[in-house]
Amino acid sequence: MKVLIVEDESKTGQYLQQGLTEAGYTVDLSRDGVEGLHLALTEPYDLMLLDVMLPGMDGWQILETLRRGGRDMPILLLTAKDRVEDRVRGLDLGADDYLIKPFAFSELLARVRTLLRRGRGEPEPTTLQVADLELDLLGHRATRAGQRIDLTAKEFALLELFMRRKGEVLPRSLIASQVWDMNFDSDTNVVEVAVRRLRRKVDEPFDTRLIRTIRGMGYVMEAEPA
Ligand code: CA
Repeated sequence: MKVLIVEDESKTGQYLQQGLTEAGYTVDLSRDGVEGLHLALTEPYDLMLLDVMLPGMDGWQILETLRRGGRDMPILLLTAKDRVEDRVRGLDLGADDYLIKPFAFSELLARVRTLLRRGRGEPEPTTLQVADLELDLLGHRATRAGQRIDLTAKEFALLELFMRRKGEVLPRSLIASQVWDMNFDSDTNVVEVAVRRLRRKVDEPFDTRLIRTIRGMGYVMEAEPA
């Protein structure tokens, strides 16, 4: 599997190149937008990691040019900006996913594997699991420690988002945009209320908590470290 990284910050670029090489991928690294686009147009890559702010040509222009030219390899945007507008713009322009810097390498690797699987036409997983919590996406059923949990449609969508992005801090604004389709500056109180309800069902009856509040940032779902 061949991966192209277009990233001008040399530390980040090298770190990504080294990590992905160790994970068994063949990796090319470009630090310049124009050169990155040229490589993407001329070499067969299975996946592209694309920084947004680049010298020469920015990630938006590269993305647009590639998609307009019919290049359909999966593209994962790397963005330093924690702004919903940027993510929406990236997805609108044809990015498949995005990661906000700084990110954990394990998270990047998980996204890379998912995108490559999707690129090969392999089916998406039909169940999600975090610790003893399981979500059956086809049957629309949640269970924890073998016990069935009844959820409303919104609670299910919220839990699905948490589980798909496990280990990642999700700002309230992102949750609002993904689950309620509300924009960035909407009142995020609705998110807090919904998370509280979800916790009552998913966390409080059980020994360990999976949904954590990160003060001033948002929420993260993760199994307690052993
Ligand atoms: Ca940059």
